[in-house]
Amino acid sequence: MNRVKVLIIGSGPAGYTAALYAARARLEPLVIAGRENGGQLMLTTDVENYPGFPEGVLGPELMDLFRKQAERFGSKIIDKNVTKVDFSRRPFRVEVEGDMWEAESVILATGASSKWLGLPNETKLRGHGVSSCATCDGAFFKDRELVVVGGGDSAMEEASFLTRFASKVTIVHRRDEFRASKIMQERVLKNPKIKVVWDTAVEDILGDGKVTSVKLRNLKTKAVTDYKTDGVFVAIGHEPNTKIFRTHVDLDEKGYLVLKRHSMTSVEGVFAAGDVHDIRYRQAITAAGAGCRAAMDAEKWLEEQEHPGARAVPAAPRRA
Ligand code: NAP
Repeated sequence: MNRVKVLIIGSGPAGYTAALYAARARLEPLVIAGRENGGQLMLTTDVENYPGFPEGVLGPELMDLFRKQAERFGSKIIDKNVTKVDFSRRPFRVEVEGDMWEAESVILATGASSKWLGLPNETKLRGHGVSSCATCDGAFFKDRELVVVGGGDSAMEEASFLTRFASKVTIVHRRDEFRASKIMQERVLKNPKIKVVWDTAVEDILGDGKVTSVKLRNLKTKAVTDYKTDGVFVAIGHEPNTKIFRTHVDLDEKGYLVLKRHSMTSVEGVFAAGDVHDIRYRQAITAAGAGCRAAMDAEKWLEEQEHPGARAVPAAPRRA
């Protein structure tokens, strides 16, 4: 059986940064990057708020740089999926598509994914007018009419962005007020291209091969209407990718990993970084910072295991 000191699951900003720090600490980390590696930034175009890139950088390009930097210091990266974990004993066991790995410590950095409405036609028409990523797919809808579902900041952001292309954007929200921040709401409400349909649920997405309309139900009057649209952008939040860890570490009521001490989860030696535990900030820069923290905590914890009595957490932050 293969054994490593640090095994990192996930390959977004958190996973690769954890790998970079662990590699520079000579821990020879293994990253199980997943078949769709690179995380959510692979689905974006311009990233304009990642420090160090004054002109902006493309999401996939940024992730490629993260990966190369992690590899430069000796991280090993496998582009396969983790299929099973066992954190009930040490060394921990992680199964990767049939191959078993033993790990003295594990960093969970599997991120979060967009939530979907759960309608059968939503799955069928994904990529044919149904999307969860305006920056990826918005440009396909020049001069078309679109529906955005949701009432949070994501929905506001998607709707505003889509007006660059679409002739009209309708936000369909299930309540009579938005959850989004005031400033984002204001921007949407004064945009002449955006209309809001309140108190309404999308009950079905219709179209043969491509989206042609949505079936809307007014939740107050119960009236059902067929609403013409060329596309549907679902922006109803994200869910953490923790299904595989569910019975192994503590999760909160929304499924996010719970941190117990610094970046350590409920299992000693299993750490977490990024959107998988962070519902609040969800930024590439905060995820990268969390990856750094998790690697430093793992390093100190491993040291403590080898030399009991040594500090289990960093005494003071060190500079790179
Ligand atoms: P969110 O705040 O959880 O909002 C999700 C929205 O979708 C809510 O309005 C919710 O309705 C609705 N919704 C949830 N499930 C639904 C369903 N099954 N059917 C219909 N509607 C449903 O998620 P988010 O907008 O992705 O934002 C998440 C976090 O990221 C927030 O902290 C937000 O501030 C942040 N964020 C910030 C920015 C920015 O600052 N630029 C951009 C995007 C996100 P209810 O309101 O009725 O629950």
